[in-house]
Amino acid sequence: MPEVAGGPRVLLRRLRELMAEALEPQERLDRIVREIAQNMVAEVCSLYVLRADSVLELYATEGLNPGAVHQAQLRLGQGLVGTIAASARPLSLSDAQHHPAFTYLPETGEEIYHSFLGVPVLRAGRTLGVLVVQNRTQRHYREDEVEALETTAMVIAEMVATGDLARLARPGIELDLRRPVSFTGQPFNEGVGLGHVVLHEPRIVVTNLFNEDSEQELERLAEALGSLRLSIDDMLSRRDVAFEGEHRAVLEAYRMFANDRGWVRRLQEAVRNGLTAEAAVEKVQSDMRARMLHMTDPYLRERMSDFDDLANRLLRQLLGTGPEEMAAMLPKDAIVVARSMGAAELLDYPRHKLRGLVLEEGAVTSHIVIVARAIGLPTVGQVKGVVSMAENGDAVVVDGEEGRVHLRPQPDIEATYVEKVRFRARRQKLYREMRSKPSATRDGVAIDLLMNAGLAVDLPQLAQSGAAGIGLFRTELQFMVALTFPRAEAQEQLYREVIDAADGKPVTFRTIDIGGDKVLPYFKGASAEENPALGWRAMRLALDRPGLLRTQIRALLRAAGGRELRLMLPMVTELSEIRQAREIIEREVRHLSRFAHHLPTSLKLGAMIEVPALMWQLPELMRAVDFVSVGSNDLFQFVMATDRGNPQLSDRFDPLSVPFLRLLRQIAEAGRAAHTPVTLCGELAGRPISAMALIGIGYRAISMAPTAIGPVKAMLRELPLAELEAAMTDALDNNGASHDIRGMLRGFAREHDIPL
Ligand code: PEP
Ligand code: MG
Repeated sequence: MPEVAGGPRVLLRRLRELMAEALEPQERLDRIVREIAQNMVAEVCSLYVLRADSVLELYATEGLNPGAVHQAQLRLGQGLVGTIAASARPLSLSDAQHHPAFTYLPETGEEIYHSFLGVPVLRAGRTLGVLVVQNRTQRHYREDEVEALETTAMVIAEMVATGDLARLARPGIELDLRRPVSFTGQPFNEGVGLGHVVLHEPRIVVTNLFNEDSEQELERLAEALGSLRLSIDDMLSRRDVAFEGEHRAVLEAYRMFANDRGWVRRLQEAVRNGLTAEAAVEKVQSDMRARMLHMTDPYLRERMSDFDDLANRLLRQLLGTGPEEMAAMLPKDAIVVARSMGAAELLDYPRHKLRGLVLEEGAVTSHIVIVARAIGLPTVGQVKGVVSMAENGDAVVVDGEEGRVHLRPQPDIEATYVEKVRFRARRQKLYREMRSKPSATRDGVAIDLLMNAGLAVDLPQLAQSGAAGIGLFRTELQFMVALTFPRAEAQEQLYREVIDAADGKPVTFRTIDIGGDKVLPYFKGASAEENPALGWRAMRLALDRPGLLRTQIRALLRAAGGRELRLMLPMVTELSEIRQAREIIEREVRHLSRFAHHLPTSLKLGAMIEVPALMWQLPELMRAVDFVSVGSNDLFQFVMATDRGNPQLSDRFDPLSVPFLRLLRQIAEAGRAAHTPVTLCGELAGRPISAMALIGIGYRAISMAPTAIGPVKAMLRELPLAELEAAMTDALDNNGASHDIRGMLRGFAREHDIPL
């Protein structure tokens, strides 16, 4: 059996010299394959590069027919080379011709070679090509030879990624790495963003591949692993990291992996072969990721992501790249691409540089998405595989309306979106101009357009949108983005900030509405519920844990000292809940006045109408509170028995249907009869057509996402209300329950030139 001539360290040193020499790319490649063949005592060494059209093209060879270079081609999955590329695994054969996948390419003249060793050229788990050595005799390649060829392939991967080889491609043919790719995910927040990829956990680009002294490098690796383990232990012992639940489980998995003998051994092996510690981390991670890409077990895939995060942490330890360096390198039109991320991490990015967000995971209700929506960032989620396909700095388009992401878009796609962005900007300008105009119908009936909010980042929108106030402040959002229960002082500070920012405009604070789909990872509340939407949530939970509610109410009373305080209770089912809440509030007022605290000048208490049971106690409800607000998201889900979070049902039933509109009208009428103000603050208020329906059945105040205020106001100012009211009465009372209200409203809008 032939011996390895000089071993991998010598080979890597030769490759480094070749990389540094001023050579044309083809010449460099030719010399590289010659060097590898010599070093591995092989008669043949060939490099195949994956093109965008899924064809592997021979880019360089030592030993095969030189005329076959850029001519010999195999499809992904075809032949031995295609199989290696498709499986991302090495293949070592002593008798290649008899392998079932063997495909003979006459132009190469390879029939005389019996043994074959091929490895994928991998970068961040993606296959960019295949590197092959062949021998005439039947021989078995040893494990360390496979390892050495894999390490060499990594150097070539860098050449492909840095664009060195792109210059060798024939005109019109792109390498796979530069291929435009479109993904379909879920639209999480509307808007269109054009910009450049910023990988949230950037694959740190390792440029220093070869070590000078393996022993020294092994020490560096050991040191970095040591500090990594310490930092994980430290995080685990800190109380402010969510002590129970998911966070802890993830950290414990990290700790286990950081001590994983197999992982550490593979890293050391790569360093012994001549790589730097950071290049070793990248190599081991890339091999592992490529193998795991073909696994379907969700548990293993999840663990793989944990390993990825860990490898990134280790790279950062080795390279000392901190968040400041990262922020400085941010492009001015950053589109953040992440597997998943915490809400607070998004807020660490400079807002003025962000144009969009793409997540591999996430749900409409996840914290990060709530924050992205609050800062008006176009967001697409559930975009599988985007992280490994994207490179930092790639051009990308995020379409938050259709839920599409176009990576490295072709010019015509990009041009379409540039036009779309221009169109949106023109509309925004119109809305801004309308801000100072009265919020009233064409026949002069004033309508209050309020905004929904929940975090300090929402506050600038109050002035920008021209909202008449905050109709729903979701206080639970502060709890949802935190790692532990926000302390009383933090709550009070946020509430004070909100009232200050409102500058005299009304703000309605909803008391904490957790449970259901709003879970706090650190709160061990209910045991797993079969029907969380119908479970222990909102008022039910708040009244059972009065300490929580009491702290919040005290924080609100103190923050509103000397000003008006409007409090609203979520998910009220029985009037007794309002009585109990009122008792808690009164006790807190007494407590504060005993200590001579500055109290609010007036206190208004309202209830949300979300549970259908309230429909049969409307007159009593209206007398029991100072105002009501319809939570149409929950009310609709309960009335129609339709989970609001289930995408399969999201378009099935129409809120603009006769039964639901009759019910909403009944609430508005009950409010008018009792002189109790009624608003509506679910998503229904934010779409011009449904806002029009609401106004047509008697609503005079509605609260919505701040970005919806412009379009709703544009509709409102063209609306002949008296005519609409007559049409709605006719549709709801005289035309039977199957009447197409949506169609009628569209027709009405067309007829009266109302923008919808
Ligand atoms: C609603 O249910 O309509 C509502 C406004 O509350 P949330 O969406 O926060 O449940
Ligand atoms: Mg609700």
